[in-house]
Amino acid sequence: MSNALSIAKFGGTSVANYGAMQNCARIVSSSETTRIVVVSASAGVTNHLVSLAHTPLTQQEIESTYQAIVDIELSILNELKDKSSVEPKLNSLLDEVRELAFHEEVLHRSDLKDQLLSMGERMSSLLFSAVLGEMNTNAMNFDVRKVLRTNSEFGAATPQLDKIEALATQLLKPEIAHAVVVTQGFVGADEEGRTTTLGRGGSDFTAALLAEALDAQTCEIWTDVIGVYTTDPRITPAARPLPELSFEEAAEMATFGAKVLHPATMEPALRKNIRVFVGSSKEPEKGGTWIKRDCDDEPPYRAITRRKEQVMVTVKTPKMMYAQGFLQQVFGIIAKHNLSVDLVTTSEISVSFTLDNPANSVAQRLNNETIAELETICDVKVERGYDLVTVVGNNMQKATGVSSKIFAAVADFDLRMICFGANPHNLSFLVNEDDSNGVVKDLHCALFE
Ligand code: ADP
Ligand code: ASP
Ligand code: MG
Repeated sequence: MSNALSIAKFGGTSVANYGAMQNCARIVSSSETTRIVVVSASAGVTNHLVSLAHTPLTQQEIESTYQAIVDIELSILNELKDKSSVEPKLNSLLDEVRELAFHEEVLHRSDLKDQLLSMGERMSSLLFSAVLGEMNTNAMNFDVRKVLRTNSEFGAATPQLDKIEALATQLLKPEIAHAVVVTQGFVGADEEGRTTTLGRGGSDFTAALLAEALDAQTCEIWTDVIGVYTTDPRITPAARPLPELSFEEAAEMATFGAKVLHPATMEPALRKNIRVFVGSSKEPEKGGTWIKRDCDDEPPYRAITRRKEQVMVTVKTPKMMYAQGFLQQVFGIIAKHNLSVDLVTTSEISVSFTLDNPANSVAQRLNNETIAELETICDVKVERGYDLVTVVGNNMQKATGVSSKIFAAVADFDLRMICFGANPHNLSFLVNEDDSNGVVKDLHCALFE
């Protein structure tokens, strides 16, 4: 075995069923360097768990949602050649799901919610290690909570890097010498050992964090598309895969809505210069995108992203004309709630800014609290129903003709706010949600077709 180490992460559709898991197992067993595998929950499972944890349901609805999860898991179990050692373990995990789903306090206790949300990954990792074993790869299922230490912010926990590095070196590294370690994405544990989660789509982040902790050279993100595309291929069939991207471009794309990568994935990669590969577990032979520090070229436009469900907040006070501390107070409240503002415009008596608002998220909960607090100092108007469309590229402010080309492409649409990013990599528009498909398509046509 060489010292080179790669970590492979497989997303929900890649581990959706037994056949999909076999594709992934072939990728792992044909690699000399992949010793750690991070898996998501099988497709659909986390969504079911989220509805159990967040929505008031009747007993009957809880039962049928639980059964939908059981069906997904058992369909994989039942295709295993020898299920005898896995079956009792899976059954006890399913019992845990059931108990949490019917727990009286699950809707009110964030620690219970995270315990429930983690179950999808705990089951898929168990099943995937068995599928790998069938392919004569010596594999073990490893509980990531032993090493992925986070703070206690349930639902959006922050990883504690030093502790993760120490724990992974001590507990995970010795295991990879004799087995391929299969572990759970998305899941962590706080100081007290309580289960936490990193936020939706967080398995990519887990893979990058473990790659950082163990000094891996590459982190492979295997998903359902053959790389990172010029835009979401679900918006336009003209989107095409990109052979390479810089860390900064990828980070920008992820932050501004390219769901193929969790927004925080690039942070560990950047810190340790870990090359990130994105490819399709169904069609590995088609190659994919390499994300790295230095690319062969740095085009002014690289990709277009969209983030849905944005909230525009306008704060207004006649006092602002002479109250110098007003802006500071407004942004102080936002900073206190740990929210990041994307777009800002100001006038003499008002300030408008946008906030991200994914459903059921901590951000949504905080948005509501933030708005209530702002109302104590000024008039607040909240407008929903917007999407944020972003062009990602390089040196956009400087390159001549870049903005005029972009503006010409979207001339027919009503743009509510426009903003060059604080770095040279983006230009964003806030548009009505009904327009955003059209805006992305027209921009893609003008810039890439
Ligand atoms: P996984 O379950 O493997 O993590 P995700 O659904 O989270 O997969 O991410 C893959 C999806 O991301 C693709 O199916 C695609 O629709 C979407 N996507 C959004 N923007 C992009 C982009 N720029 N390039 C590729 N895929 C994108
Ligand atoms: N299973 C989690 C989710 O659906 C994490 C992930 O897939 O990355 O959000
Ligand atoms: Mg994902």
